[in-house]
Amino acid sequence: MTEALLALGGNVGNSRAILDRAVTLLLERGDIVLKARSADYLTPPWGFKYQAPFINLALVVETALSPRDLLTRCQAVELQLGRDRAHEKRWGPRTADVDIIAFGDLKIDELGLTLPHPRLFERAFVLRPLAEIAPDRLIDGKKVRDALAEVDTAGIKRLPPQP
Ligand code: ADP
Ligand code: MG
Repeated sequence: MTEALLALGGNVGNSRAILDRAVTLLLERGDIVLKARSADYLTPPWGFKYQAPFINLALVVETALSPRDLLTRCQAVELQLGRDRAHEKRWGPRTADVDIIAFGDLKIDELGLTLPHPRLFERAFVLRPLAEIAPDRLIDGKKVRDALAEVDTAGIKRLPPQP
């Protein structure tokens, strides 16, 4: 079993409900086991700015799947939740984005899969939720909490649990 870090986000539809469903779908087959889940965070849009704010959250999971199979599962969940990559803008609105942030201490850079995630250290919307559940986790030799201290977290709000 390998520990992996996942980051989920979305800004189209009822994002909290959709991402909750994404977590359920990821865990449904029993080959991805949840170790920790962050709160939901409301985060300002990134990349393409003129779009609705996002909901983001992070997970620590364990799995015996290969990194490729885990990515395939993440993308299957995106599709099940109605993500349409063919018609979306890069870094624009999406119903559910499920990224692998790290897979153990594996480093790979292949077509369609780079680990750790290449834009991780620029993304407060990834680091803030992740720091809640894995502050001391090292990624590329850097602690998540230290990486978080280096990004701008303005406008990010931790949301209370839903009733
Ligand atoms: P982003 O997640 O950066 O907002 P997308 O979800 O549209 O953008 O992903 C673009 C591509 O990134 C996907 O086709 C996927 O193959 C690739 N990719 C590379 N590394 C990873 C990773 N670690 N996790 C998720 N997707 C990745
Ligand atoms: Mg993605």
